[in-house]
Amino acid sequence: MSSYDADLLIVGGGPGGLATALHARRQGLSVIVAEPRATPIDKACGEGLMPGGLAELIALGIDPPGLPFRGIAYLSEHRRAEARFRGCPGRGVRRTTLHAALAARAKEQDAEWISTRVTRIDQDADGVRAAGVRAKWLVAADGLHSTARRAVGINAVAGNPRRYGVRWHFAVPAWSELVEVHWSPRGEAYVTPVEPELVGVAILSRHRPDLSWFPRLAARLRGAAPARPSGCGPLRQVVSRRVAGRVLLVGDAAGYEDALTGEGISLAVKQAGAAVAAIVDGTPSSYEAAWHRITRDYRLLTRALVLATAPRAGRRAVVPAASLLPGVFGRAVNTLAR
Ligand SMILES: Cc1cc2nc3c(=O)[nH]c(=O)nc-3n(C[C@H](O)[C@H](O)[C@H](O)COP(=O)(O)OP(=O)(O)OC[C@H]3O[C@@H](n4cnc5c(N)ncnc54)[C@H](O)[C@@H]3O)c2cc1C
Repeated sequence: MSSYDADLLIVGGGPGGLATALHARRQGLSVIVAEPRATPIDKACGEGLMPGGLAELIALGIDPPGLPFRGIAYLSEHRRAEARFRGCPGRGVRRTTLHAALAARAKEQDAEWISTRVTRIDQDADGVRAAGVRAKWLVAADGLHSTARRAVGINAVAGNPRRYGVRWHFAVPAWSELVEVHWSPRGEAYVTPVEPELVGVAILSRHRPDLSWFPRLAARLRGAAPARPSGCGPLRQVVSRRVAGRVLLVGDAAGYEDALTGEGISLAVKQAGAAVAAIVDGTPSSYEAAWHRITRDYRLLTRALVLATAPRAGRRAVVPAASLLPGVFGRAVNTLAR
């Protein structure tokens, strides 16, 4: 006979882990979240919640304050192309604001927390043990460079091209109701208004990021002192599988393409629902197919865009192509917005 401290132990209390906790509580599972950092947790992130992910969060009882955005604009120094969402807007939400809302809701729903970094996981036919907790199931949502993933023997490699992301906040009035993606020969800067007087700027690149690559954007931000930057990478993580016995991977830990199309949080929230459904059904292996279904458009479109814009010629062509083919640009944006 096994005795358990909880039905589900969640490693990592970021958006993926906390969305898993909320889905699990909704299904009546008892939950312990293991997270070493104090709330609210910040992270390098463009901070744009796509409409589909925002709707999922609202359904979980999370409606964080922020600024709505109505689509995506691609800009070079001389051109601009716009694609507007057909349905509801997305929302720019500071990472700390989002995390505080998720954490408050998870605690309100009686998810238990332990402040610890998980380094080792043992499992048998009936359950899992980590950080001194015995649980029936474990969801690993400990981010891009997941320790839990490694601990259960799931392979991951950093894919090419090796790109990194860095985010700053600038205290300037928001000037656009679209998330702007500024393209330069060396990287992209995407700009998300998160508060009426605050915009986030995330630069994605293979090189050390530099705002001077984007003169048009730099002019807008002139005189505003950026807050301390936050970065991470390499972004692309190719993960061999998402289930090992009673352990399921959710969010960035499950594999990541790139931040260029900005839907990591939305995908993490959707994966959380699918992982909990597989656990409740007692068919953990069914989660693998669900993960592929949830992430398919993102993997195909984001990968295609990253590869097409890896050469300089591709980078130069992307904004003109988006403005010459507004229907294609609009369809791609609205596919990723779902
Ligand atoms: C530059 C950049 C811009 C981005 N822009 C956007 C955007 O605009 N919109 C969007 O939706 N997504 C964006 N993303 C992606 C998004 O940030 C991630 O997809 C999202 O944070 C994934 O959530 P997660 O919970 O899986 O991982 P994380 O947010 O990384 O959370 C993991 C948690 O696990 C904890 N942890 C780590 N190790 C352990 C351990 N051993 N034991 C216990 N806990 C542990 C960490 O402290 C952390 O709290 C961007 C990413 C980058 C890098």
